[in-house]
Amino acid sequence: MTKPASALTKLLLGDGPRQQLRLSQALLVLAVYLVFAVVQHAEVMLGMIDASQSWALTTWNLIGGVGFYLCIRSGLNLRLKSGRSLAIPQSVWAMVGITWSYAITGPARGAVILIMILVVVFTMFELTPAKARAVAGLAFTMLAVTMVWKALRDPIRYDPRVEAMHLLFSAIVLAASYVLAVRIGKLRTRLVEQRTHLEQQRAELAEALERISTLATRDELTGLPNRRAAIERMQHELAVRARPEPLMSLAVIDIDHFKRINDNHGHAAGDAVLRRFSEHAQSVMRRGDTLARWGGEEFLLVMPATGIAQGMAALNRIRQALRDASFADVAPGAALTFSAGVAECGGEQDLEPAVARADTAMYEAKRAGRDRIVASAQGTPSVAT
Ligand code: GH3
Ligand code: MG
Ligand code: MG
Repeated sequence: MTKPASALTKLLLGDGPRQQLRLSQALLVLAVYLVFAVVQHAEVMLGMIDASQSWALTTWNLIGGVGFYLCIRSGLNLRLKSGRSLAIPQSVWAMVGITWSYAITGPARGAVILIMILVVVFTMFELTPAKARAVAGLAFTMLAVTMVWKALRDPIRYDPRVEAMHLLFSAIVLAASYVLAVRIGKLRTRLVEQRTHLEQQRAELAEALERISTLATRDELTGLPNRRAAIERMQHELAVRARPEPLMSLAVIDIDHFKRINDNHGHAAGDAVLRRFSEHAQSVMRRGDTLARWGGEEFLLVMPATGIAQGMAALNRIRQALRDASFADVAPGAALTFSAGVAECGGEQDLEPAVARADTAMYEAKRAGRDRIVASAQGTPSVAT
């Protein structure tokens, strides 16, 4: 259940912090127009303003107040590329109303100058210093033109000496409020810049963290997960997996006579062969399995929810893929084989022992003549050639 107050706020201000701010500003302006209309009506009753002129001005003000609110509430302003706050059209609309009011208010017109300041103050929140200056300049010009025009056309009610004083005061207060508007505008810009800078720093930090985490978990040469990442992966697998057996099989893979490749073709060729090995192996692996670089020319294959027999089958696929592969471009004449040991892991406690069993089985495969896979059945390795 939403509270009635928040439902009303939502109805009036809609969604999104920026639109809500714009709408609350527009409503504030509308409220000022309404108060203005009441005061002006009082002036009509006191015989200071002509009723029909007052109604015309009130209509202008309310059309502006309601119109701009509806423009923003309906999202029409969002179609604009810039100036979405409608601060400039709203200011100009208000300034026309205020100047108009000055021209019809008669003796109480001095107070109207104060209201012009409000417009400049409102622009502080939305406009750049240059635009705020344009608004203040326009406000002054509109008042000045009206004062001169009224002093010339209606010198009885608009005494030229009074108009000259009004003009002077308008210049002073508008200039002062413009200076304040610019100061606040600069503060606002600085805040926005600081926030942008902070966001940028945060993004850079996140990127750096991501890189560090990649460096910490990936093997630089092959791009495979490194030993630490493989251990974490296995621990995670064993922690999340429900009990049904088989839990996981592991294979330690060691490339046969790798030293010869380095000796015969150079270390760079050896590197390329290691990369190529990881690519070929990954191309035939099931999606849930993980190949990690365990160190040097040794790899660990993690096969979740896999028994020994399935694990052996997976390794045989890799073996076949290497037989079919050509290394002619990086190490001409080299044939790549490996010896592997496979062990089933019985749970988190069994992780280290299982790796050790797979390692033992791998050495068993080396002893038996290399290029083969040995299954460790809890201590009794069986050899497959
Ligand atoms: P075995 O069949 O008994 O495993 O013989 P092997 O030559 O593969 O075994 P050994 O452990 O004697 O040699 C492994 C070689 O792998 C030695 C080392 O220089 C090489 N090696 C380890 N890491 C890298 C690497 O990142 N790049 C290259 N090019 N060679 C590496
Ligand atoms: Mg080795
Ligand atoms: Mg080796």
